[in-house]
Amino acid sequence: MEHESLWQNVLGEIELQVSRPNFLTWLKNSQLVEKSEKEGVVLVGLPNNFAKEWVKNRYHKLILGSLRNFDGSVRSVNYTVLAGSSPVVVLKQQKVGVKENKPPDELPLSRSLIDPETNLNPKYTLDSFVVGSSNELAFAAIQAVVSTVGKKYNPLFIYGGVGLGKTHLIQAAGNVIKERYNKKCKVLYVTSEKFINDVVWAVRNKRTEDIKKKYRDIDVLIIDDIQFIGGKPTTELEFFYTFNALYENNKQIIMSSDRAPAAIPTLEERLRSRFEGGMIADVTYPDYEMRLAILKTKCIEQGVSINQKTLEYIATKIQKNIRELDGVLNKVVFYEQYKNKEIDEKKLDEIIQETSHVSPKNITTNEIIKTVADFYEISQIDITNKGRKQEVVEPRQVVMYLLREVLKLSYPHIGEKLGKRDHTTVIHAHEKISKEITQNPSLNQKLLLIKERLYKT
Ligand code: ADP
Ligand code: MG
Repeated sequence: MEHESLWQNVLGEIELQVSRPNFLTWLKNSQLVEKSEKEGVVLVGLPNNFAKEWVKNRYHKLILGSLRNFDGSVRSVNYTVLAGSSPVVVLKQQKVGVKENKPPDELPLSRSLIDPETNLNPKYTLDSFVVGSSNELAFAAIQAVVSTVGKKYNPLFIYGGVGLGKTHLIQAAGNVIKERYNKKCKVLYVTSEKFINDVVWAVRNKRTEDIKKKYRDIDVLIIDDIQFIGGKPTTELEFFYTFNALYENNKQIIMSSDRAPAAIPTLEERLRSRFEGGMIADVTYPDYEMRLAILKTKCIEQGVSINQKTLEYIATKIQKNIRELDGVLNKVVFYEQYKNKEIDEKKLDEIIQETSHVSPKNITTNEIIKTVADFYEISQIDITNKGRKQEVVEPRQVVMYLLREVLKLSYPHIGEKLGKRDHTTVIHAHEKISKEITQNPSLNQKLLLIKERLYKT
């Protein structure tokens, strides 16, 4: 039998025996690379190292058995990474409530505009930022920072919920500073994930001097979503030193977070008090007037005109997330241009539904357990019962971690749900997974894939 058709037969058989998502994730893009007729060794290619390890550990028996079914001369199977295939898909870490439906202006195209030196995206400007009672304090603080870099409000800490303009504001500050002070002021924008990765990499490769240089040799350091730094001692320490070095030299530090410093549970005390020593401003939910103003501004920016009634309807329905407001508007604009007619209420409702339906409320404890169990191919009972089998340890800890991170359940409550376990076990699991995902790319990858499934269903 030809390699190609042999492999198709094998895949056809395996497809019936593993779950659909697992088949699509792990096996669909596999290939039979070669088969030595003499020794009967088959080489199976997978698109990346992660998939290779996973398939080898999980499906080896199945693959070998099935190959033998179709071709009696097969003795053994080896695995390899296909040259030139795409790298592991690194999905953006999905935050609770963040929609995958990105408005067109957030598609990868805009990535090419990002300034490689500062990491700033020029699309974020102060001019395009609509100011209202929900964000005026933050806006004023940003303006003050821009005109007195490093002197007045240092550090500046902006916090608030998802999609309320934090990234927009702090990036806009960076853009203005860069423009105003041109070469005299070195600006760097990083997400805290990037910072954490840099620190972990440097520590592992004994190159901490490099990152010291990178982060201390700037005038304005902007860190987005700093809350992720909490509970990672090495990173916190490195950040603390960087922070002090910059601070003492009157360099400006601007941070955003999804909650106030006091509410970041594992943040070390001295770091917390440093954050609180500067200016703290929050952004809250925009009121109706402001939501409407944002929609109108976006229409003007895009040079489109949308019926006032439509805008009012969107502003009434979407209340808690400006990114969603933007997302719905973009779809409406697209629809009207494409159909060349005004949108009707039914279609509008549909768009609003699909843009804002993925909310953390829709995800349940059982869904999390089921998704994780399916992913690891163990039964749901294994996760909730008392057994201590080695292969259920990681999935169970992942479930605990997700129940905490996604549903914000209390530790005792999680323990209760998972076979009446003690809350300290849950705390331990949560800490362990939080720590490991920054150090173990494979676990990180698993969590991203699990979350992707979770938010899709
Ligand atoms: P956050 O970082 O708080 O999650 P973002 O800054 O990414 O939110 O904002 C989400 C989207 O909404 C972005 O496209 C941003 O440009 C837009 N946006 C947020 N607040 C405003 C505002 N006040 N005026 C105009 N656009 C805004
Ligand atoms: Mg943000």
